[in-house]
Amino acid sequence: MSDTIAAIATGEGRSAIGIVRLSGPGAIAAVDALFTPASGARFSALSPGRLAYGVLRDERGRVIDRCLATCSVAPHSYTGEDTAELQCHGAPAVLQAVLEALFTQGVRQAKAGEFTRRAFLNGRMDLTQAEAVIDLIDAETTAAARCAAAQLGGAMRRRIDGIYDELITLVAHFDVVLDYSDEDLEPFDPGEIVSSVGRAQRELAALAATYRRGRRLYDGVPCAIVGRPNSGKSSLLNALLGYERAIVTDIPGTTRDTVEERATLGGVLLRLMDTAGLRATDDAVERLGVERTRQALSRAELALVLVDGSRRVTEEDQGILRLAHAAPEVIVLATKADLPEFQVPDLDCQVISISSKTGHGLEALEREVERRFPAGGGDSGEIITSRRQAEAVARAAQCLEAVCAAMESGMTPDAVLSDVSWPWTPWGRSPAGW
Ligand code: GDP
Repeated sequence: MSDTIAAIATGEGRSAIGIVRLSGPGAIAAVDALFTPASGARFSALSPGRLAYGVLRDERGRVIDRCLATCSVAPHSYTGEDTAELQCHGAPAVLQAVLEALFTQGVRQAKAGEFTRRAFLNGRMDLTQAEAVIDLIDAETTAAARCAAAQLGGAMRRRIDGIYDELITLVAHFDVVLDYSDEDLEPFDPGEIVSSVGRAQRELAALAATYRRGRRLYDGVPCAIVGRPNSGKSSLLNALLGYERAIVTDIPGTTRDTVEERATLGGVLLRLMDTAGLRATDDAVERLGVERTRQALSRAELALVLVDGSRRVTEEDQGILRLAHAAPEVIVLATKADLPEFQVPDLDCQVISISSKTGHGLEALEREVERRFPAGGGDSGEIITSRRQAEAVARAAQCLEAVCAAMESGMTPDAVLSDVSWPWTPWGRSPAGW
């Protein structure tokens, strides 16, 4: 990895500050050639980590910007290589000019994720931390951000390390006793295998069980908004999203497409699916919509069932309620609580009264959603958030299960312990260790 890369590190569009980062052996020299600190010192002569104010010029000496620059020296940097950072004014034209000037110095455009890739390959972080970087950038809720930040700090690595170290100690003890049988060593008790491996296996299984929660943190909880036509589904969707997304009309059956949007409610990311009213119908287009609703319900982890509180409960409402129970979590909402004719419907379940017009009851809905989908474990970062991690943990747990089964069937420790060490490599140890 001998080349030097650069990229705009800040978001697209205009902003007060825009940052260009460089990494590689030529990073400091490239900035040195273009940037003159106001102090008169050379950029390359400044201490690492110090910010220098100065003028940045292109290769023909034309001023691009007056900016701040800093550097870090290998291996004490994010990527483990020499890095430099230019904090410029955030106009896209300025940042593009900075990049082009750097390209004249033998620097090339970084590919997506390449800085973090180098950090991983140089042993600055393990794969769980590299994954946490993108999770942190993509986080849509505070809970997701907290989890990613904890994992970036190595929370998942420490959890796995604990399990790993116990197993390695076990294998090491066995090998030492075998290789130095004439030494006065603590004898190896095969019972140790069953207790240590069993404990590790249970811990991994518990970790694997967190994947569902971890996935929800980033992908959101699939949530179907169902109710008969005109019950206020589109109005609720719009109220939750804070803008007009679905068309609201008072002609029953007008929401014929399933609309999917992401919104945060009570700190929980929801993938809201507004659906056409569930109704036996002869209209071919509407029938399609009804079918989509059934499909949405089958995918939903949460169903918000809307019952129009300004009208009497009908058999149709009851039918929708029964159908909605296909979803693991169901919250029943009585809509239009602002209307004088509103009454809390007499249903055999807990009902939250809401008004999408005034916002009444939305806080209670928020609290209920939070209660049903607690972030538990997310803050400490000890939950599985990616499919890769989930598969690696499942593989490791399976191997350990096989070890326990083999021990029970009477196999000898030397035969079974080979299964203890191999499942760990796919977990993602970097070449230079964690
Ligand atoms: P959908 O067919 O279930 O999607 O229902 P809509 O959201 O399109 O609403 C149907 C009608 O009820 C529209 O005229 C809305 O303005 C009205 N509506 C919806 N929610 C409320 C509410 O909270 N209060 C009042 N007063 N009217 C509402």
